[in-house]
Parts: sequence; C-alpha cells; structure tokens
Amino acid sequence: THFGFQNIPETYKEKLVKNVFSNVASKYDVMNDVMSAGIHRLWKDHFIRKMAPVPGTRLLDMAGGTGDIAERFLDYTKRKHNDTTSKVHLVDINPEMLEEGKKRFMGSQFYSNDQIKFGLGNAENLDFIEPNTYDVYTIAFGIRNCTHIDAVVREAYRVLKPGGCFMCLEFSKVDTPFISELYNVFSFNIIPELGRLIANDGDSYKYLVESIRKFPSQEDFASIIRDSGFTTFGSGYENLSFGIAAIHTGYKL
Ligand code: SAM
Repeated sequence: THFGFQNIPETYKEKLVKNVFSNVASKYDVMNDVMSAGIHRLWKDHFIRKMAPVPGTRLLDMAGGTGDIAERFLDYTKRKHNDTTSKVHLVDINPEMLEEGKKRFMGSQFYSNDQIKFGLGNAENLDFIEPNTYDVYTIAFGIRNCTHIDAVVREAYRVLKPGGCFMCLEFSKVDTPFISELYNVFSFNIIPELGRLIANDGDSYKYLVESIRKFPSQEDFASIIRDSGFTTFGSGYENLSFGIAAIHTGYKL
C-alpha cells in the first residue's frame, strides 16, 4: 500500500498502545491542551527552535501522530528561510492518529507541495527505510509508548545520515520535590478524570500517566542514547518546566 509497511508483529504492549491511541485519536489535540494548559505547545515550539532546521532538511518525525511536530517544522523553515524544499516523513503505528494528522494537512500548501508524507510503521523496526536517509529524527511524546526503547534509538541511528541529529521530547522526571508532589496529584487523580470527561476514556489516560512514571530518568535515557552510538554534548538533555518534560539530543558523528 502507499503506507509501505503493513505486517507489523505486535507485542501485547503494542496492542494496548494502539487501542489507547485509537480511543483518543479524535480528542487527542484538545486533551493535550486541556491537560497541559497549553504548555505542550510551548515545549514543541522550543523543540523546533532548538532543532533550527536549515533549508532542504529531511526530517523523519517518528510517532508523529496528529502532526504537531511536522507542522511546526514546515512552518519554521517557511517563516525563517522562506524554504519550501524541506520535507517531513511522518510515521506512526496507529492508522487513526495518521488519519487525524492527514486531515490537518489536507489542502494546505505543504501537503500539496509534497513536503509531507505519511507512513504506518513501528519505531522499533524501520526496515522500510534505507540507512543514512534523514538529517533529523524526532520523536515527541512517543518513545515511552514503545516496548523496546533501545531498539527505537538504534533504528534512529541507522536511518540518520552521518552528522544527523536525534531529538526526543518526552515526559521525564521532575527535579523539584514540591513540584513533584503537585505533579503526582495532578497526574494520578486529575488527568484520568479529565480523560473520562472529555474523551470518555479514563483508562487510556491512566495508562498514559503510568507510562510516564515507568520511563527512565533523564540520565538513564541519555546513557541509552550514547550506548546506541550517538554522541551527546554536556548531559545530553535539557529539562523543560522542572523536568516535567525533557529534550534529549544525540548526534551521529
Ligand atoms: N508526536 C505527536 C505529538 O507530539 O503530538 C504524537 C504523540 S502521541 C502522545 C504518541 C504517538 O505515538 C501516538 O500517535 C501513537 O500511535 C504513537 N506510537 C506509539 N507506539 C509507537 C511505535 N512503536 N511506533 C510508532 N509510533 C508509535
């Protein structure tokens, strides 16, 4: 098919994650805004400014979902460089999320200009992508849903060109005790309740909160990135909003 990747072997976690995102796909964007009071938009804006893409950049936006990163990326290169040659390949494991993403670009200058293409695939196995293909690999709020984080990072390394950059935006560990307590109350009590009210699906949001809890700390994740062959500078990460989220960066040098 035009997605180019159909036979995805599934683990139990993969199935669970697919169901979660199928259930919340159409409400996903509004829930993000409500749950983070719009702050996820600022984090994503910062993420793209940090990437600072130059004209002609080839981006693989993994777990791209409804296209928040892809759209910001194309918007940035257009505004900053008047560039319409940069391209993004948005890949996601969930067809419903991809459909929501396609709606966003339908009829827009970017979509018709062939600057964006969509693909169905699992971040852990990108056999349908040649090695050394992309300048930048992004994964935003996607990697904690994957079963084998190390496999995801290894695949990112393989598909990046030499000199290419891996960038991950993900929920992380809060570094301030007082904020951490507030955050726990918010995430374990309020988020599932909001999920129930808005998306009529408290359990999916409970899963999302638990997945944040289980994700490795900033330092442990930076080690996984280095173990996969990437070079990091300094700690390899930047905390956002007291570590509620973090950006990890690695270079294929
Ligand atoms: N990147 C988007 C954003 O920042 O708004 C979407 C993030 S959403 C929280 C997580 C996405 O990861 C979902 O669209 C889900 O389908 C996708 N996903 C989960 N597991 C995946 C996997 N193994 N491979 C590719 N995508 C995956």
